[in-house]
Order: sequence, then structure tokens, then C-alpha cells
Amino acid sequence: MIGAGIVGSSCAWHLQRRGAQVSLIDSEMPGQSTSFGNAGCISKTSVFPFSYPGVIRKVPGWLLDSEGPVRIQWSQLPRVAPWLYRFWRAGSPRRVAEIVAAQVTLMEHVLDDFDEILAATGTGHLREARGLILLYDNADDFSADAWKYRERDRLGLEWRRLGLDELTAMEPRVRLGHGVALFEPLWQHITDPGGLTAGIADAAVDRGAHWIRDHVRSVSSNASGVTVDTESGRSIQADRVILATGVWSNRLLAPLGLRVPLMPKRGYHTMFSQPGIELNHPIMSASRHVLLTPMAGGLRVSGTAEFAALDAAPDYARARALVSSARHFLPDLDGAGVSEWMGQRPMMADSLPVLGPLPGRENLVCAFGHGHYGLTQGPGTGKLVARLVFGDDPGIDLAPFSITRF
Ligand SMILES: Cc1cc2nc3c(=O)[nH]c(=O)nc-3n(C[C@H](O)[C@H](O)[C@H](O)COP(=O)(O)OP(=O)(O)OC[C@H]3O[C@@H](n4cnc5c(N)ncnc54)[C@H](O)[C@@H]3O)c2cc1C
Repeated sequence: MIGAGIVGSSCAWHLQRRGAQVSLIDSEMPGQSTSFGNAGCISKTSVFPFSYPGVIRKVPGWLLDSEGPVRIQWSQLPRVAPWLYRFWRAGSPRRVAEIVAAQVTLMEHVLDDFDEILAATGTGHLREARGLILLYDNADDFSADAWKYRERDRLGLEWRRLGLDELTAMEPRVRLGHGVALFEPLWQHITDPGGLTAGIADAAVDRGAHWIRDHVRSVSSNASGVTVDTESGRSIQADRVILATGVWSNRLLAPLGLRVPLMPKRGYHTMFSQPGIELNHPIMSASRHVLLTPMAGGLRVSGTAEFAALDAAPDYARARALVSSARHFLPDLDGAGVSEWMGQRPMMADSLPVLGPLPGRENLVCAFGHGHYGLTQGPGTGKLVARLVFGDDPGIDLAPFSITRF
């Protein structure tokens, strides 16, 4: 198992529990990469791709706004352009319908998958089931998303509109102005996503998994197995290897002659350890693309989509812009004990992860590219990968997630 983020740690735990002998390898400690600083939301109703008809027309306006939700480091345009082309192609009405149907299959059991892994790994105290409050700045923004709510109704994904009195009773600090407020009761959140990932990895190790801290240089396979070569000179033999290497996955695929449209979609957070205000629920502004989550360590303000090189230095002005943006509906947001963080979402052009074996190399299994929903889908992906490895029916159609779809 290469990668000890939420995806790899969940795969390791499920495989070890089913009796496989697992080695979990990462150059970082478990849960210290992208899975560390995310917004913590288990977003069961997020079944829509980021590309859909008309979205490309919004991009220039977002890019021109210094506090806008999207930014491209212009030196990266030659790399981003082919990905953007595939992103645009994934936004046709027919593809959107297919992608929604595929996401629904991955999202269907996420709450049960969390129930199972949290109970078995002693991490249940890290979960809150309080739903999500969703805000729009104005009725026009809400109308632009109306198709998503029609789809949610069709799919039975519960939501409802909140009146001002109800919103004020639930979150007295929120100023709605001329906006629209909704409640999504199916959302849950994790109050320490990095701690959860580490807890799941620890539980796999307690069950007998072997933890190796090392950087993997290359992976090669033949009919008799897989060889994993590491920076410190290890050469590890395995029957099967799972690539749960998030945004770095192309680096291991390229020497095998494979490359997928996977971009680092960077996001940021600002964390207030003493926020000065208390929120009872996670609150997201759909208009401003910012999400506030009450966490064990304080209040986390996260969001942004920045396209930059994989190793480019973070630009923490983006983390501060998120706070300014959130003050629009939470004017009292302030506080002390500020820390800032940047993470790189492993974003596929069609918003679907890559799951399943490589063509012609059944002993190399992909589990990466979960984009905005890696925390939500990590435990379920672990279960699915264990089913594949043990030759069971995966329970869903894997064709939409195949690496050969591009
Ligand atoms: C600001 C922000 C907010 C988010 N909010 C949410 C949210 O609310 N809900 C949600 O579901 N998702 C959210 N996400 C997305 C989520 O964080 C990711 O999808 C998820 O963390 C990806 O998990 P992963 O295990 O695939 O990757 P990672 O956590 O990045 O783990 C991959 C691991 O692979 C290791 N690795 C890679 N290559 C090698 C190698 N060659 N050798 C050794 N080790 C290697 C890395 O060191 C890393 O530890 C958010 C993301 C961001 C940035």
C-alpha cells in the first residue's frame, strides 16, 4: 500500500482486517498531506461534477476577482490548458448525467462506511452529525444552482430551505442580508481529519500491518508480483500494490507509460484556535466558495481552487482572502491563534476518482483522484479495494472509474 492519506490508510485497515499482510509506505507520517487540513466534511450529497454546462463562462470573472475562488499561476497555463480542455469536455449534459450516476454509487453507503470504520478504530469521538448550513449571497446565485436541487430531489438527497428565524436560532452570528439559506441534514463532519487518518493507520498497524516511512521511487510488475523500490534502497516484493498516492500518482504511473488528467487543485485553510465566536454547524457559502467548520482545534475556514505546479510554494494570501470572504456573512469572524495551511486536491478532469487495476497489470490497483471528496469517500474506497483484492464483487460498476476512460 503506497500512500497513508485517508484513502491509503482506509485501504490498509480494510485489507489487514480481512487477513491480508499489509505494508503501508509513505514518505510522510499518516494523514500529514492533503488529508490533514481539509474541511472535514462528509458530504454525502456532493454528487455533481465541477464541470457542467456554462461553468467555463464563469471562470474569467472568478480569475479577475482577487478574492475569487479560482486562481491559475500563469506560468502553469501550458500544463493546465490540456486538463481544462478535458474538464470542459466533461461538462456536456450527457457526461454530467453519467458522472452524477457514478458519484451516487460511491456516495450511497458513505455514512455506513464511516459508522463501521469509526467504531472499529476507536475514532468515533471525532465525528459530529449536525448537517450543513448552505448560504447563497442572493436569489440569482441560488437560481443558477436550481438544477442541483432538482437532481437532489430526484435522488432522494434531503435538503430544505431555512427561514430567517430558523437560521438565526441555529446560527445567531450569521448575517443573511438578501441571501438564501438551506439546510442539508445528511452532512456530517470530522473534527480532526488528520487525527482520524492517523487513527485508522494506527489501527491497521495494531492489527499487524507493517509501517514503512520511505519515499517510493518506482513500481514495476510482472506476472509473479510487484517490486517497489524506495529512496533509502529498499526493494520490496509484494503480490499486489495499491497506489493511494493522491495528487502525486502520475509520478509513479509515468515510468509505466501511463498518465492521467490529474491536476493539483490547491486549497487553503486558516485555523483560529481561539475564534472568539462559536458555530454550531459547518457553514458553506456556495456563492463565495468558502466553508467554515467547527473543529476540535478551533474554527477552520477553508476553500479556494488554485492551479499551480506540484512543488510551487504556497501563497498564504489565499488563506487570508478566505477569511475576508467569510466576513461577508459572518462579520464577527476574528480571533487569535491563527495557523494557515495549503493542500493539493487530487483533481481528475471529470471529477471522478480512478479505482481498479491497471490494464494488463492486475496486481497494480489504483485508488486516487478523489478531488474534493477524498475524506468522504476514503473509508468506502478502502472497503471496495479490499473486495477487489479478495476477488469479491466490488458492489458497484467500476467502468466509470477505470483508468482507461480517457
Ligand atoms: C482546502 C481543502 C478542503 C477539503 N475539504 C474536504 C471535505 O470537506 N471533505 C472531503 O471529503 N474532502 C475534502 N478535501 C479533499 C480531501 O482532503 C482529499 O481528497 C483527500 O485528502 C485525498 O486523500 P488521499 O489519501 O488520496 O491523498 P493524501 O492525503 O494526499 O495522501 C497521499 C499520500 O501519498 C504519499 N505519497 C505520494 N507519493 C508517494 C511516494 N512516491 N512515496 C511515498 N509516499 C507517497 C503522500 O506523502 C501522501 O501522504 C479538501 C481538500 C482541501 C485541499
